[in-house]
Amino acid sequence: MSKVIFLADHRNGAPASVAPGDPPPHGQPALDLRARPLRDLRISVTDRCNFRCTYCMPREVFDSSYSFMPHSALLSFEEISRLAGIFTQLGVEKIRLTGGEPLLRKHIENLVGMLAELRTPQGHPLDLTLTTNGSVLERKAAALKSAGLTRVTVSLDALDAAMFQGMSDSGFTPDDVLRGIDAAADAGLAPVKVNMVVRKGLNDGQILPMAERFRNSGHILRFIEYMDVGNSNGWNLAEVVPSQQVLDRIGAVYPLEPVESAEMGRVAERWRYVDGGGEIGVISSVTHAFCGGCTRARLSPEGKLYLCLFAHEGHDLRAPLRDGATDLELARILTGIWSARGDNYSELRGRNMADPSRKIEMSYIGG
Ligand code: SAM
Ligand code: SF4
Ligand code: SF4
Repeated sequence: MSKVIFLADHRNGAPASVAPGDPPPHGQPALDLRARPLRDLRISVTDRCNFRCTYCMPREVFDSSYSFMPHSALLSFEEISRLAGIFTQLGVEKIRLTGGEPLLRKHIENLVGMLAELRTPQGHPLDLTLTTNGSVLERKAAALKSAGLTRVTVSLDALDAAMFQGMSDSGFTPDDVLRGIDAAADAGLAPVKVNMVVRKGLNDGQILPMAERFRNSGHILRFIEYMDVGNSNGWNLAEVVPSQQVLDRIGAVYPLEPVESAEMGRVAERWRYVDGGGEIGVISSVTHAFCGGCTRARLSPEGKLYLCLFAHEGHDLRAPLRDGATDLELARILTGIWSARGDNYSELRGRNMADPSRKIEMSYIGG
């Protein structure tokens, strides 16, 4: 089992002294300026994708002349798992692999296997999940499960084939994704969460068919408000369907009741069908900011740490990593970055105070 004990200097084996800026005491999470603990880490393993979802990687921008990152720029699996081990010592209990399309990164199951060996300071394994467009999940699900993946989230915006192909701008079909979802459930990556981004006038007619398809399936369908991530999707508030409207539409046919959850950092509001047909979720990042409970850090494919989905700048971790920093030095860097965090973009957007310029792209940093 891989271990990270950063209060001993790994480079020379000497015990390190405790200094201002040192990581928090063993077992305590790092806290930011608003006392938000560091609990979740999203790791984007590639900026490439085999879809061109119009709201994420519009083909006009991400065409053949677009410069994706060269492989040499990407963090290796060893570098990712070393950093993840240090994050785990600073409070991270949950890791999500994302992208781009994470299943396009070669031998991703090897990375899953390395991350599955990590333990929290209390000795618990991590909640290790992955978000995928599902296109190649059918053939990868069993290997991901046996490598130690806990669960999977699959994006699916429509059941109607023409609409799906229009939104994903790909040759794949909803059936390809549905077979991936089934394979994941069969492999034991359950409950499978299914993410649907709702765009007014485009796929909002699919809300009820999607709800009906996933009722009584054991999978959890989650409706995501279309967000103003990145600078390339031409986002417009008029295209957002507020989650409350989604709940009203479904609830009018299949009555719903809220599921209470006290878990900090949870972004989805949970609802259940009164008749026992299962659960759905809504993610209301536009109409209901949840920055106050945001415990997420995001690591980009080439090792930049972002403190918010809407951040302008990342903090380079690859340079110290490749310059030979010890685990303790890296832990100090991470603690310093997290303890200076005050990010709250969605709250500011709600007050018309957000700066929408120069945001990172969703396909680079993951959802
Ligand atoms: N390629 C994988 C996938 O699509 O599941 C993982 C990366 S993708 C960037 C992660 C999630 O972000 C997906 O569920 C996607 O639907 C969501 N997403 C992308 N752009 C979005 C936007 N503008 N608003 C809301 N969600 C978005
Ligand atoms: Fe690719 Fe996911 Fe973005 Fe769609 S949402 S373009 S599948 S990264
Ligand atoms: Fe977290 Fe930023 Fe989203 Fe607020 S806007 S919830 S700080 S990622």
